Amino acid sequence: MTYDYLVVGAGLFGSVFAYEAAKRGKRVKVIDKRNHIAGNIYTKEIEGIQVHKYGAHIFHTNNKKIWDYVNQFAEFNRFTNSPIANYKGEIYNLPFNMNTFNKLWGVVTPQEAKDKIEEQRKAAHIEKPANLEEQAISLVGTDIYEKLIKGYTEKQWGRKATELPAFIIKRLPVRFTYDNNYFNDKYQGIPVGGYTQIVEKMLSSELIDVELKANFFSKKDEYLEQFPRVVYTGMIDQFFDYQFGTLEYRSLKFETSVLDRENYQGNAVVNYTDAETPYTRIIEHKHFEFGMQPKTVITKEYPKTWEKGDEPYYPMNDEKNNALFKQYRDLADKLPNVIFGGRLGMYKYYDMHQVIGAALATVNKEFEN
Ligand code: FAD
Ligand code: UDP
Repeated sequence: MTYDYLVVGAGLFGSVFAYEAAKRGKRVKVIDKRNHIAGNIYTKEIEGIQVHKYGAHIFHTNNKKIWDYVNQFAEFNRFTNSPIANYKGEIYNLPFNMNTFNKLWGVVTPQEAKDKIEEQRKAAHIEKPANLEEQAISLVGTDIYEKLIKGYTEKQWGRKATELPAFIIKRLPVRFTYDNNYFNDKYQGIPVGGYTQIVEKMLSSELIDVELKANFFSKKDEYLEQFPRVVYTGMIDQFFDYQFGTLEYRSLKFETSVLDRENYQGNAVVNYTDAETPYTRIIEHKHFEFGMQPKTVITKEYPKTWEKGDEPYYPMNDEKNNALFKQYRDLADKLPNVIFGGRLGMYKYYDMHQVIGAALATVNKEFEN
């Protein structure tokens, strides 16, 4: 069998690419080192509940084209992510909004909340935020920073908030309305029946062959020789044998349990924002699909330092790592037949909609020229 493409990684990026290539009559081989498709969006049914095996995944986008695109592969429900924060037993609404401000300070109007934040920001003497701590305090003040951000962030990233880039906290909305929706995007939901079906459909063409438990590095040279074009969605530094040094990633340990009760925490996502609790959040999967099953499945998410052999879940996009990535990117640009993509290939803190957008842009470049 001769193929037009080898796609390394059956995650979202690789699968969108494979689907679009097959639609254009190309033959594609997809390999993944894991024993399942779908990468980090993989979901699996346990006790009738779709379990997000690699952490909570909520689809959200402002882009109608991407929303329509993903809706070809599954029906989405009306789930709106409204996580709550548990700080030493005190419960607060997220993202930071009037419900949070009211519970914390007793303020009722948006102006009162703004005044309170401004007072705390002034007292902290921050002119131009230079790191995550300063950015957070200038957005929401010191009380929220201390109770809801500092502990969570330092656990999640394994670094002091003063040593983290400000952009990470800008992912979260700050709102002066009583609105607990975690995202500002127009479109949001969870695929009814889980995410795996989406990737299954993307890879269902007769022109696509999938091989699982196949690591690209077990025969890299052979693959590069055999396939005219390669789409690589693994770690870019590993592709180049870490020759300039190792990029930093953050890893996670997931601890999943089935509980013999109907409802454990009353919400899909509860964040533990103190420094002492070793996990950052507990996911109760049934609530993503408003499930009424007699049992429940929960997952605790423990952040950990990435070491070789661990799954690299999050890129650490600070200046040092971005500069190192740029060196690898320059090497990648010199390889005419290998396309790098996805969260690991591009070393970017991409959400699913951004991965689909990036994959479709790659497809356009590849096939419209
Ligand atoms: P991946 O899913 O990582 O796929 C890459 C694939 O390549 C993997 O299957 C891997 O096994 C394979 N691979 C790597 N190296 C090799 C090799 N050498 N040989 C063979 N195969 C290889 N996004 C949202 O939009 N909403 C959310 O709520 C959300 N929550 C998240 C929560 C967590 C805990 C995490 C970690 C991510 C979250 N994301 C979320 C982001 C989302 O998971 C990613 O945007 C998306 O899965 C990235 O797809 P990808 O194809 O780039 O990478
Ligand atoms: N964050 C926080 N407290 C929370 C939730 C998030 O301080 O209760 C911060 C933390 O630094 C985190 C960042 O906001 O890394 C982005 O949060 P998001 O929920 O987007 O993280 P992800 O889903 O990517 O893990």
